[in-house]
Amino acid sequence: MYDLIIIGAGPAGMTAAIYAVRREMKTLMIGREVGGQMIWANEIENYPGFEKISSFELINRMKQQALNFGAELKEDEVKEIKRTAEGNFLLYTNRETFEARSVLIAMGLSPRRLAVPGEVEFNGKGVSYCANCDGPFYRGKTVAVIGGGNSALDAAEVLSKMTKQVYLIHRGDNFRGFEALQEEIKSRPNIEILLNTEVKNILGTQKVEKMQVINKTTNDERTIELEGVFIEVGRLASTDLVADFVDRNEKSQILASPKGETKTPGLFAAGDVTDCEFKQITVAIGQATTAALSAYQYLQLKQGKSFVPKNY
Ligand code: NAP
Repeated sequence: MYDLIIIGAGPAGMTAAIYAVRREMKTLMIGREVGGQMIWANEIENYPGFEKISSFELINRMKQQALNFGAELKEDEVKEIKRTAEGNFLLYTNRETFEARSVLIAMGLSPRRLAVPGEVEFNGKGVSYCANCDGPFYRGKTVAVIGGGNSALDAAEVLSKMTKQVYLIHRGDNFRGFEALQEEIKSRPNIEILLNTEVKNILGTQKVEKMQVINKTTNDERTIELEGVFIEVGRLASTDLVADFVDRNEKSQILASPKGETKTPGLFAAGDVTDCEFKQITVAIGQATTAALSAYQYLQLKQGKSFVPKNY
């Protein structure tokens, strides 16, 4: 029996684990991939305390800290959750069943894939899903941004300040993003906008060298030589697993109180999987801290004990 099972082993999950074990809660993290979305970044330059740190190193530091304090980790996927008559939770993976007094959902978001040839092959070798994280590696180079929402417009804006040339490629004939941002993008001399245009493939040898696109209106094909392709076609919250236990917004993100509570007592949520506005590591770890302490408080009160945490 665990006091807390955390689903997700990204920055939110690992932070929650660190806080929970320091409250002497028997804690298990279950995550498909340790690191979560940090895996998609190369180097991280906005994590306080580290001017620049490789995502690999930050993931390992967080993981080691959680494990050293006594958290357990299973690299697995939770397939089903049930509630017991006592109000505990049963979590089923393909191989095992676990029971917990409380659960914290920190499953993050997954980038929507473009699903074109070369995308998977060149992931991390020119293909990126995070302009903020990877943009500086393309200083003075030529890149493309794929997508037509605010993320793509933001990415194009950020990248245009540091790269030589940005191609903004959108399959539609209208952007979905803010008007002001669209105007800003259009005013940038080094951004070329290609509307009604789809990516056919991403090509290269060791890393990305070019990309073929097709204009759906004219059927004209074009080959663009470039070093980086930033895919910003939305991120997905895969929360069907907890659909019966939580309220969700129209994007399937979990609605959580400022304390990380969901509508099910004992079930908490933190990080990008929630409907928070800013999807940032530092936001996620703050929410996870709150949610882990809320879980501690929930268990203390359930046992009729004081909820004042000691040893901050
Ligand atoms: P989004 O608004 O859902 O836009 C996704 C874009 O990707 C759409 O233009 C869509 O094209 C395109 N797309 C989807 N699948 C595609 C595919 N298979 N191939 C090519 N293009 C594809 O996602 P987002 O831009 O990541 O934004 C998510 C949310 O965060 C939005 O609510 C956004 O406003 C918000 N956000 C806000 C800010 C800000 O406030 N500065 C910054 C970033 C994001 P179609 O238009 O043709 O469907």
